[in-house]
Amino acid sequence: MGMTIAQKILAAHCEQDTVEPDEIVMAKLDLALGNDVTAPLAIETFRGSGVKKVFDREKIVLVLDHFTPNKDIRSAQQCLVVRNFAKEYDIPHFYDVGDVGIEHVLLPEQGLVLPGDLVIGADSHTCTYGALGAFATGVGSTDLAAAMISGEAWFRVPHSILFRYKGELNSWVSGKDLILFTIGKIGVSGARYCAMEFTGPVIKSLSMDGRFTMANMAIEAGAKTGIFPPDQVTEEYLESRAGRDYTFYFSDPDAEYLDIIDIDVSGIEPVVACPNLPSNVKPVREVRGVTIDQSVIGFCTNGRLEDLRIAAGILKGNKVARHVRTIIFPGSQGVYLQAIREGLIEIFIEAGAAVSTPTCGPCLGGHHGVLAAGERAVATTNRNFVGRMGHPKSEVYLASPAVAAASAVAGELTHPDDI
Ligand code: SF4
Repeated sequence: MGMTIAQKILAAHCEQDTVEPDEIVMAKLDLALGNDVTAPLAIETFRGSGVKKVFDREKIVLVLDHFTPNKDIRSAQQCLVVRNFAKEYDIPHFYDVGDVGIEHVLLPEQGLVLPGDLVIGADSHTCTYGALGAFATGVGSTDLAAAMISGEAWFRVPHSILFRYKGELNSWVSGKDLILFTIGKIGVSGARYCAMEFTGPVIKSLSMDGRFTMANMAIEAGAKTGIFPPDQVTEEYLESRAGRDYTFYFSDPDAEYLDIIDIDVSGIEPVVACPNLPSNVKPVREVRGVTIDQSVIGFCTNGRLEDLRIAAGILKGNKVARHVRTIIFPGSQGVYLQAIREGLIEIFIEAGAAVSTPTCGPCLGGHHGVLAAGERAVATTNRNFVGRMGHPKSEVYLASPAVAAASAVAGELTHPDDI
C-alpha cells in the first residue's frame, strides 16, 4: 500500500521506510515555534527540567505577536520572559516589535518553513504551513518545552482525507470561501485528527496566499494538519525565500484515504460563517442586511498581500459606513511595507479605516478592537466561538477580505458585487 504526503513526511523524520495510520512515532523536528502566550509556559518547563542547552538554536522560533506591542502589565511580563530567554540562549529567529509579524504569515515569508519539513508550534494554527507541502501541527507548551530540549516530538500518524476541488470559481470566491464551504460541509470535527489533503484543478490554480488561508483553517475542521501537494506555484514562492534544501513529497496513487470528497466549486458563492461556529456557513446573500459594528481584515488567515489588495480594490473611492469601525491588520512588517509601497494603506485611510501594526489583536479578544456586549463584527479571522473577539454577548461573522470590505462600506453584511 502506498503512502500519503503526511505519512511520507513523518516516515522521513523518524527514519522509517513506511509508517501506518495510527502508528505512534518519535520524529525529528525541523522547527519548533512558540509565541508570547505559549512560550512563557514552555520556558518555565524547560528551565524546570534543569537542562541548560536547547537542541538547536537555529530551529527554535519565538514570535511575540499576540499581545504586542505589550497591551498591559501581564502581557509585558509574559513578553519579558521570552525576551530574556531568547537573549540568554541567543535564539536567532526571535521576532519582537519592529520586525514581528503574525507567526503564520511571518515564518513562510522568512523562508523558515519549507516543503517536506516537520514543524510543531505551540499554536493551533501552525497547520498553515501545510500550504507549502510541510507537515505542521499545533501542540501544547509542554510538548514545545520537550522539543526545545530534544528536537523531537511524538505523533500518532494521522489518516488522510482527500479533497478534490474542480469546476470554475465564481467571481469574488477565494481560498477563504473554499475552506469555509468545506468546513460547512463536513463540520467542525469532520476531519478530526486527520490530514486534510487539498487537491484538484482549482487548487493547482490557487495562489500561495489562498493556499495559506485554506491550510490555516484545517484545524477548524478538527484536522491534525492540512496539506497541499507542492508544485510550480510553491516553487515560485520559495525562489527568493528558501535558504536551504527542501523536498517535495507527493501521495502515491495507491495511498489509502479515510474518505475522498469531491467539491464542485462552480456552485459556491462568497460565504460567511455565522456565529458561533466556523461550520455555520451560509452564502452572504442569505444573511444580507445583518448590521455590523466592526469589520476587521488581516490576521494569520487573511493578512497577506493578496488579501489587502482585494480589500483595497473594494475600498478605493468608497468610505466605510460611519458606524462601522474598520481596522486592517497586515500580517507582517513585510506585508505592511509592500502595502505602503503599493498605495494600499493610503486607500484604507482615505476610506476611513484604521491600520494596525501587525498583531493578533482582536482575533482572540486581546486588544485593538475588542467587542462590547451586543456588538457584531465581520472578520477575516478563523474562529467565531462565543466570546472569541470580546464580550460573550458579541458576535463574529467569518468572511473573506472581499466580503469584509464590502460589508464595511455597506454597514451590513453584503456581497462584494453590491458595492
Ligand atoms: Fe491565533 Fe488569531 Fe493570532 Fe492567528 S491571528 S495566530 S488565529 S490569535
